[in-house]
Amino acid sequence: MRRALVSCLVGLSIAGPARAEPQPRNVVLFIADGLRDGLVSAATTPAMDGLMKAGVRFTNTHSLFPTFTMPNATAMATGHMLGDTGQFGNTIYTAFPVPGPGESLTPFLESDPVLGDVDAHFAGNYLNEETILRAAHARGFSTASIGKLGPSLVFDHTARSGQDSVLVDDSTGRTGGIPLGDELGTRLNAAGLPLQAPTRGANGQAGTDEVPGTLAANVEQQAYFTAVATKAVLPLFKARGTPFVLVYWSRDPDGTQHNQGDSLGRLVPGINGPTSLAAIRNADSNLAALKAQGLAESTDVIVTSDHGFSTISKESATSFAASQSYRGVPKGQLPPGFLAVDLAHDLGLGLFDPDAKGAKLGPDAFPSRANGLIGADPAKPAVVVAANGGSDLVYLPEGDRALARRVVEALSRQDYVSGLFVSAALGPIPGTLPLSAIALDGSALTPMPAIVVNFRSFSTGCADPTTCGVEVSDTGLQQGQGMHGSFSRADTRNVMGAMGPSFRAGLRSPVPASNADLGKTIAQLLGLTIPGKGRLVGRVLTEALANGGTPTFARAELRSEPDAAGHVTVLAYQTVGETRYWDAAGYPGRTLGLDVPASPAAAEAH
Ligand SMILES: [Zn+2]
Repeated sequence: MRRALVSCLVGLSIAGPARAEPQPRNVVLFIADGLRDGLVSAATTPAMDGLMKAGVRFTNTHSLFPTFTMPNATAMATGHMLGDTGQFGNTIYTAFPVPGPGESLTPFLESDPVLGDVDAHFAGNYLNEETILRAAHARGFSTASIGKLGPSLVFDHTARSGQDSVLVDDSTGRTGGIPLGDELGTRLNAAGLPLQAPTRGANGQAGTDEVPGTLAANVEQQAYFTAVATKAVLPLFKARGTPFVLVYWSRDPDGTQHNQGDSLGRLVPGINGPTSLAAIRNADSNLAALKAQGLAESTDVIVTSDHGFSTISKESATSFAASQSYRGVPKGQLPPGFLAVDLAHDLGLGLFDPDAKGAKLGPDAFPSRANGLIGADPAKPAVVVAANGGSDLVYLPEGDRALARRVVEALSRQDYVSGLFVSAALGPIPGTLPLSAIALDGSALTPMPAIVVNFRSFSTGCADPTTCGVEVSDTGLQQGQGMHGSFSRADTRNVMGAMGPSFRAGLRSPVPASNADLGKTIAQLLGLTIPGKGRLVGRVLTEALANGGTPTFARAELRSEPDAAGHVTVLAYQTVGETRYWDAAGYPGRTLGLDVPASPAAAEAH
């Protein structure tokens, strides 16, 4: 099948010049997971800085909220926003027991078997949209996705044989992994590379409340991924003589910033310690290795990060959960699963652990993965909490409007909450904005959350506040370690840049740009027409393209009605035509970047 497509493409490229059709380009998409824009400089990230100075640097960038990896991976992969892809968090409520993670109703989706389970349940394609890698493969491109487990597979998640798209991630050569194709296996052997990916080793150590986390970046594992890309995959593609698309997902600095042991219990240095800096350098050196492959003439290289990053706070003066004692949790701090514990307490209902076969939790226990089933029967929960980090998802499987109001009232009393977004199906609720305001209500196949809860954020005080953000996080990690997922500008502000024959040279672009735009832009670069099912889409970043026009943009703000206590959810956003870009949201005074625009570019209205 592939051979037929390839010969068809060769035919096209021969006929191309005579009809003056654009030559198909190669595209490399490099993701430095969790890299903050303010950390990109000639000193810390020379390869990235050089690429953006030669090509385009976007200065008004946007991760999609909830600012997590899997949601933003689906946006890059499809060009659609999260209301269409249904990837509302790294952990979502699926409304069916998912086999891979032990029949959990709230699976963590950074897993190859779990992605297979949800695809099987949701009509073979849980995202309900075609990905750029799938479409490119169908058009005869060679395609590969290499790197971090989860987001790497998203780019061609329905291809699980290993024979058409290349997929190399943490699970390669291990139980549950996607098999290596025959051609790639031969290449790896010839290059002397193992057929099994190394583990993260010391980098995977998160520590405890008494033991600091890792002091090592993810060097060894990523050296393997880089070697696979440069010594096996790119030579294979070159030998085929077809244009290619390569996605490289660097787990650093994300994994290291989460687990770092530089700052146990303390907000400073937080994610600005030496271990996090080593991780940033590691990601940049991976990019340098790819750049050194002599791709410049024919290849567009796009660099992004899925989201920014913040240091974790576990403080609350209002939380019932923080007033209780738990093993492994410092006294007075929020335990993992505090949102589920507080809601169950406030509603006077039972709390069950979806990740421990629905076990009932007593007063001295918090849920094992911070998720919760709340009600009388774990098989029929009244409320489900899918914990994610800097924001959580709350589902009401029965769609009970009165219960929705009680949950909102309980949440708005907590000092750790900053902004609530509620499904329009539950009716207008004072103090909240609808999910439609942030493009979370689209054509998704997975259940739509009832309420998205954003947590409080602030800065520790530095020249660029988005580089020293702090946020309350629902996580098993400790205060002083790292997290993201909130509506803080420190989390929504990601890194975006590009260089290559399709792009302008030496441009700093102040026009708002997002990860969904990258999906649309890459499709255009590859000449792919991908029919969409949903309508929540990004746009082609024409301002960055050699012959493209520069659109105008504007700033706007949306404010909810105040609730009984006077809380107002405020949403600061920008627009380019019909396309929206969300800067920050929450209760005034409780979200970094909401009251004063965090980046000067964002303050200009054109
Ligand atoms: Zn992360």
